[in-house]
Amino acid sequence: MTTLVWFRQDLRLADHPALHAVLRAPTDKGLIIPVYIHTAETLESGMGTGHGLPEGGAARWWRHHSLKALSKSLETRGSRLVIRRGDPLTGLWQLIRETGATRVVWHRRMEPAAREEDSRIKATLRAEGIEVHSFNGNYLHEPWEIMNKQGKPFQVFTPYWKAVIAAGLDLPSLPAPDALPGVPDTLDGLSVEALGLLPEISWDRDFYAQWQPGETGAWKRFEDFMPLIDDYAEARNLLIGTGVSKLSAHLHFGEISPRQIVRHLLDTRGSVLEPRGVEHFVRELGWREFGAYLAFHFPETVDSPLDKRFLHFAWRDAPEDLRAWQRGQTGVPVVDAAMRCLWHTGWMHNRARMIVASFLTKNLLIDWRHGAAWFMDTLVDADEPSNTAGWQWTAGTGADAAPYFRIFNPVLQAEKFDPDGAFIRRWVPELARLDNRYLYAPWTADTNTLHQAGITLGKTYPAPIVDLQGSRQRALEHFNEIKRAP
Ligand SMILES: Cc1cc2nc3c(=O)[nH]c(=O)nc-3n(C[C@H](O)[C@H](O)[C@H](O)COP(=O)(O)OP(=O)(O)OC[C@H]3O[C@@H](n4cnc5c(N)ncnc54)[C@H](O)[C@@H]3O)c2cc1C
Repeated sequence: MTTLVWFRQDLRLADHPALHAVLRAPTDKGLIIPVYIHTAETLESGMGTGHGLPEGGAARWWRHHSLKALSKSLETRGSRLVIRRGDPLTGLWQLIRETGATRVVWHRRMEPAAREEDSRIKATLRAEGIEVHSFNGNYLHEPWEIMNKQGKPFQVFTPYWKAVIAAGLDLPSLPAPDALPGVPDTLDGLSVEALGLLPEISWDRDFYAQWQPGETGAWKRFEDFMPLIDDYAEARNLLIGTGVSKLSAHLHFGEISPRQIVRHLLDTRGSVLEPRGVEHFVRELGWREFGAYLAFHFPETVDSPLDKRFLHFAWRDAPEDLRAWQRGQTGVPVVDAAMRCLWHTGWMHNRARMIVASFLTKNLLIDWRHGAAWFMDTLVDADEPSNTAGWQWTAGTGADAAPYFRIFNPVLQAEKFDPDGAFIRRWVPELARLDNRYLYAPWTADTNTLHQAGITLGKTYPAPIVDLQGSRQRALEHFNEIKRAP
């Protein structure tokens, strides 16, 4: 029996339940064809989005290199990745015709649009007598396994996570195959380069020093992080980003699975519920699970507020402010540092994401969907479920959301989580010579101090586009109105 193994958001060979099941099936001595079908127009082929946004440049860069890495690992095992482009169902049919395959396997995705597409493809193939099997390859548990006592989905993280722990974290992680059957030479495919995922203008220079997409890079990143894990609970909040794993894009593209991470921690540390650093790190993986869980149970929330009172919220239409935020030109140093870091590296620290999201949705009163779309366009780890959950949480419109009156003060946040100013100085070099007393709020410095640091507000660095106190008050009034609604 010939099988197509359809790779999407699972660009790895270890802990690959779909591939493993095919290799273990006793009746099979047939061909195994690893397949990747690229859909350029939408985020679907791997990302999936309710909006149908095109995959952003940063994620496309990552995908290019991750596909190269996967191709290479398949080749070292005697196989090869057959790459096609276009509509996935059409592509699968074509491959079925060319290879005589009678079975297709893949890992389930949680993005609502991708899930719809997978169901349609599954039904169509099955109706034509093709065997189709889907597996859980990207999450600890299936979203339908974790329900509250009433059999309903959780909407609050803490009880959800308790239920996940009760369901068990001692889960298997499968080894990578040593060898795979060859793919016939007659079966043609595109090169990764032919997909045109790399940018035409080389804005991606900094990416190469920062990231190593692919399974080997993912494990290297995880192993580099392991000595730091005991300090994670405290160090994870430092904006400079030295206390976190930076595994998010590797997880998003499925180069490492959460089960592999948890398994490795259980094997090397004996428990994932203690000590504090390990427990906290695994709990953060739980937030990733929770995002996917919400996208599964509440699919409409990828572009609509979970809290329906926000359906008609009067967000400000302020394209210039949005543009200043996107470009890191708001005049609020920590916001600008974070937005420029995103632009240069395709990644932003979690606390920085919360600060810039709060600034956009509360201080600027701009619809969270604009922010979410920008993140999807610029993050290497652009992941619709985690992104939606993060934005809705910060905007106060989602599940287990931050209370509406929680408006991050970007100056206090920066003082606390960038205490030596290294993060701001790294990304906003115009302010590098300013004393820490003024670095977080340069508008409080007198002209002489600014002059000595080589700064003219409004010229060398923007004056703040919004008054932090006044805009906080405005947000509270707007949100109060909504929260009073039934
Ligand atoms: C507004 C906003 C938007 C976000 N958009 C995305 C996104 O598009 N893609 C994405 O992967 N994460 C997103 N996050 C979650 C989080 O910021 C990133 O996962 C994290 O910063 C990645 O860095 P890390 O790998 O070093 O995380 P670590 O702190 O090392 O955590 C380990 C892993 O746990 C997961 N994780 C950690 N925190 C969260 C969280 N709050 N929510 C979900 N998963 C989490 C990630 O997979 C991460 O790699 C968003 C958060 C916010 C507030």
